[in-house]
Amino acid sequence: MPSQDPQAGPPLPFRRVTEAGYADTAARTFAVDRGPGGVVRLTGPCPRCGAWISPPAVAETVRGRETTGPGLVTVVCDCEEPHPQRPANRTGCGAYWNLTIEEVRR
Ligand SMILES: [Zn+2]
Ligand SMILES: [Zn+2]
Repeated sequence: MPSQDPQAGPPLPFRRVTEAGYADTAARTFAVDRGPGGVVRLTGPCPRCGAWISPPAVAETVRGRETTGPGLVTVVCDCEEPHPQRPANRTGCGAYWNLTIEEVRR
């Protein structure tokens, strides 16, 4: 799928960074799918570089709690766009943020 936009400016350098706005933006734009076994799949545009990503997320549930509550996961951009200064063994632009996922457990 084409993801190169000629109107886009110079590519963002890889940077391990988070901003408060990332979580807010992602909370609105990311779709959350729950599969069997509690696997959570996120899909949406990276709030930093704008690439469409679907990073896996593992919801961390607090043991001992019987009530359903929100789960907090850390999402890391794993786009495949070229970002300067990115380590060879990494993907994404370096952005990361926390996302609250409403747990649905039965
Ligand atoms: Zn990104
Ligand atoms: Zn990117």
